[in-house]
Amino acid sequence: MARKLKGTAAARGVAIAPIVHFHTTLDHIPTWKVKDDGVPAEKARLSGAIAEVTTNLTALQQELAGALAKHDVRIYDAQLAILHDATFRRDVEQEVTQHRVNLEVALQRVIARYEGVFAAMENPSMRERAADLRDIGRQLVGALIASERQKYTANGSDYLFAADEFLPSDAGILDRAHIRGIVTAHGGKYSHGAILARSLGIPCVVGIEQIMLESATGGMAIVDGDAGLVILQPTPEELADYERRLHEQRAIDRRIEEVRFQPSVTPDGTAVQLLANAEGVRDLESLEIEACAGIGLFRTEFAFMERRQFPTEDEQVAMYRRAMEGARGRPVTFRTLDVGGDKPLGYFRMPEERNPVLGWRGIRLCLDWPDILYTQMRAILRASALGHARILLPMVTTRSEVVRVREVLDQLAADLKATGVPFDPEIELGVMVEVPVLVPVLPDVLPIADFVSVGTNDLVQYLLAIDRDNQRVAKMYDPFHPGVLRVLQQIATMAAAAGKSASICGEIAGDHWFTPLLVGLGYRELSMAPVFLPRVKLMLRSFTLVECQDLATRALAMQSTSAVRRLVQDEIQPRWVRQLGAPAETKR
Ligand code: PEP
Ligand code: MG
Repeated sequence: MARKLKGTAAARGVAIAPIVHFHTTLDHIPTWKVKDDGVPAEKARLSGAIAEVTTNLTALQQELAGALAKHDVRIYDAQLAILHDATFRRDVEQEVTQHRVNLEVALQRVIARYEGVFAAMENPSMRERAADLRDIGRQLVGALIASERQKYTANGSDYLFAADEFLPSDAGILDRAHIRGIVTAHGGKYSHGAILARSLGIPCVVGIEQIMLESATGGMAIVDGDAGLVILQPTPEELADYERRLHEQRAIDRRIEEVRFQPSVTPDGTAVQLLANAEGVRDLESLEIEACAGIGLFRTEFAFMERRQFPTEDEQVAMYRRAMEGARGRPVTFRTLDVGGDKPLGYFRMPEERNPVLGWRGIRLCLDWPDILYTQMRAILRASALGHARILLPMVTTRSEVVRVREVLDQLAADLKATGVPFDPEIELGVMVEVPVLVPVLPDVLPIADFVSVGTNDLVQYLLAIDRDNQRVAKMYDPFHPGVLRVLQQIATMAAAAGKSASICGEIAGDHWFTPLLVGLGYRELSMAPVFLPRVKLMLRSFTLVECQDLATRALAMQSTSAVRRLVQDEIQPRWVRQLGAPAETKR
């Protein structure tokens, strides 16, 4: 078994704690060898799981008794019979005893064997039994894994989250005080899970395909979010080494924190607005708003994704008002619903798509379902009376989409005015630049947009034709590609020529290695996860505008991504290290 597993570094920092498995299913279960003296414990776990599933099934049966026909309620009798079948139990126990595998594996194997037998039977009702059996197996494994997890998550101890993926909805259920690190089998550095991990400040490594198979819940591990490494069962020397790194990290963090409330200017006085990205009102509650210039990207879809149905207009107004109050007069940039792609809405039926990231998402979806857009924009307009709100449209592909949204906005404003509902008549409408074809047509779009914000996460994905969630090609997803930098420069230049502001709200805005380049390319507004604000500010305060411009000019002339990375390493990193007055931090 490999102890050192290499993946993609997704959120910096180091964490040491026991691994806990999440989202496991019958197809994907933890596997470990059981020692001779561990067999009785596995048998006891089986009894516990059978008891728990029995309780759940009986309760469900009673609950549904009134709603289902009598013979349908008996489906649960059939399941209970399998659960208490002596042969089934004996076969599972034998699998553990003979092959020394953990109970989850034993269940998986026995169920697969039984399923094969049932599936080959002529009688259709016997074939149905295969489905019942599988369901029972899923429930037993679910109960076992939940109880294992509980041992580590219910007692207030620290743990590492391990799963196939870190889903946006996980952020709501996790105990933030005790989750120390995240490691996932899938995903890339720019998946939404990775973005969330970074904004929560949790070290994260993604793309370790075998993580769920090679580790077991409760096993000690180290997550190295700088090197993209996970070390299972660390040796005492490895533990000591990483404890020392944790200590150093805290010293660096203190230095970065010192600039938190200092002005965000270059040493020669060029101001660059640093704004925060927020995934919900909760983020604003924990944000020190005085440390930034406002909210540059409020991803409204996360509030929609956490719910069971669409929020009503009034519910949205209440949420947006809370965000405006939290921003205390600073701008709040509400991005309209950006679902689709890797952000599905459980309660909204979306078609199966072969290429969802090239499909029905963002403003495309909202323009096809104008009710969603009307309700949301009306709610934002109503909240705008409280301060400085801005509207931002995701995934814009053509000028005509902006024209249509403008018409909706004008119509809504006229309705509100007619009924005496207060709103900000000057509310700005901005466009995200994340679909590459929008770049050459920007001169046509800028006259009807008040500002643009570059969504580099998607823009880079589409420019490089690299799926931001696919770990197989994750290494090629590199925003330092000179072609990306040239496109960023074109956007900044066109926006300046049109007298419109251009910001960056993708992940590179919070990546301090990019800061001097982005300033040199012409950007004066960067919006990022709040954890990165002090880091980016310290970097900004380290290079004059002329130096930034010189670095950008050199980077733009380079012919390879590695040449740009070398430039960063040779010219930006040494000064950063001097600024920190601390040991060199590994550049990504
Ligand atoms: C982006 O694509 O850069 C962006 C900010 O949007 P999201 O990451 O939510 O797709
Ligand atoms: Mg995007």
